[in-house]
Amino acid sequence: MTKTRMPTIVVAGAGLTGLSAAVSAREAGARVVLLEKGSRRDVGGNAAFSGGLFLFRYDGPDDLTSITHDFEPGMKADRIEAPPYTRQAFAAELMAMSSGRAEPRLVDTLAERSLDTVRWLASKGVRFTFNRTLGAEVRDGVLHIPPGQVLTCTGEGMSRGFEVIRPLLAHAERIGVEIRWSTPLAEVLHSDGTVSGVAVGDGGRTLPADAVVVATGGFQASRDLRREHLGPQWETVRLRGTRLATGDGIQAALRAGADRAGSWSRCHSAAVDPTMPAPESSAAAPPFPLHGFWLGVLVNRDGERFVDEGPGPWVRNYSKMGKAIMRQPGCEAFEIFDQRTAARVADEFAGSAVPIVADTVPELAERIGVPTGRLVRTLATFNDACPPGDDTSEDRGTADITPAKSHWASPLDRPPFVAYHAVAGLTFTFGGIRIDPDGRALDPDGVPVPGLYAAGEAVGGLFYGDYPGGAALMRAAVFGRAAGRTAATETRPAPHPA
Ligand SMILES: Cc1cc2nc3c(=O)[nH]c(=O)nc-3n(C[C@H](O)[C@H](O)[C@H](O)COP(=O)(O)OP(=O)(O)OC[C@H]3O[C@@H](n4cnc5c(N)ncnc54)[C@H](O)[C@@H]3O)c2cc1C
Repeated sequence: MTKTRMPTIVVAGAGLTGLSAAVSAREAGARVVLLEKGSRRDVGGNAAFSGGLFLFRYDGPDDLTSITHDFEPGMKADRIEAPPYTRQAFAAELMAMSSGRAEPRLVDTLAERSLDTVRWLASKGVRFTFNRTLGAEVRDGVLHIPPGQVLTCTGEGMSRGFEVIRPLLAHAERIGVEIRWSTPLAEVLHSDGTVSGVAVGDGGRTLPADAVVVATGGFQASRDLRREHLGPQWETVRLRGTRLATGDGIQAALRAGADRAGSWSRCHSAAVDPTMPAPESSAAAPPFPLHGFWLGVLVNRDGERFVDEGPGPWVRNYSKMGKAIMRQPGCEAFEIFDQRTAARVADEFAGSAVPIVADTVPELAERIGVPTGRLVRTLATFNDACPPGDDTSEDRGTADITPAKSHWASPLDRPPFVAYHAVAGLTFTFGGIRIDPDGRALDPDGVPVPGLYAAGEAVGGLFYGDYPGGAALMRAAVFGRAAGRTAATETRPAPHPA
């Protein structure tokens, strides 16, 4: 006589992707073992350091208030005006930002399932709030929200993303997900052409499994893989997030037959303050992101501008500023402001980044160590190219200079001047495992590798050159949830003798 047992799904990685996969696999009726390379103090991976911003589609205020009625201070309103951010708009934005290279099926799936997945997270106890930082404002009792990045999870400061992890972890433990801390996935094992288990630790111990979901993040924390794929200048880059995403899960999946996808030579990298160390545990703050570049100018150590600081809203452009800085001499830069904007930046950067202040441009040049004549010339050329007028509005673009500053171009002529030292901070890599929209790992012929699934930062195919803020947490939850569910529902465990 035989008895059917429930399938055992091993999920590797306790970040947002892995927790989403573990919860959905468990809720679909599987036994779930969640392996985490770090200890409990490392739970959450990059999400623990994130700003908690989610990008998802919605058709209007009703969709938003179906998720939350929480408002950050100063945002309470009688009515919400929220033009839709549709599935089509989300998909079109991702496609445009990848210059048409993103995998269309993944793009459509991310856009389509995003709203439902935010609701799913809310149903597990994640609390969302309307956030203030991205252009939402209250006028005459009405909250006006520009389409796009609308909700963050509740919580304080830069690491508020930990508030996504805390309830999800509690929920996973409540429903019986078995978590093994300090147990890294080393190898995916096969028998008769399908996944049969995993080797963990140094590879000497094994665990049986009917399916494996790889949710181990990118390879940004591996010095060797950074050098090989991003280039030698990335070897010593500062990490913005987890030190444990070393690409070993990705490599195990490739050895198990999965294909690679996406742009392995590209990454998400923001400008950060160089005085803060990379975080050591989930409780640590990440290096502070210097997102104020759009209000001023960026110069390299030769005193030259090198990038359009205002191509559009910062949240759609900050992920490439680190890369632009990395291409500069010494891989460093300075964000410079005058008194038109310095106070706004100081508010945002308060206590987290170190201002360098000077009454004149030559004095500033001396303080930050760039050639005086060059910086004076650079700022004079920039100032001359700014449109007349005194404001800092979005519609102000420079004329006849390269690089242009396309928006928010106002002369820097009101001393004292303020500079912030900036270096590249690496957030995550873009290349990874090839998957289908339901999280099945695919081989080089596009055929699913039986029993192997992957999601989140461990997969490639969605992000290439640019990245819209909020799309990475959304990707983690959408595809983590899908991979866990698919693994649990399509895996048929071999019957065990009774
Ligand atoms: C500072 C910062 C701010 C961010 N802000 C935002 C934001 O506001 N909005 C947004 O959309 N995105 C943001 N992101 C990106 C987002 O946080 C990530 O894309 C997302 O959390 C990735 O989740 P993941 O679970 O796929 O990977 P990870 O978070 O990297 O998790 C992988 C997990 O796997 C574990 N692991 C690694 N190797 C193994 C192994 N061999 N075996 C077992 N476990 C292993 C790791 O320890 C880790 O816990 C931010 C990232 C950073 C660093």
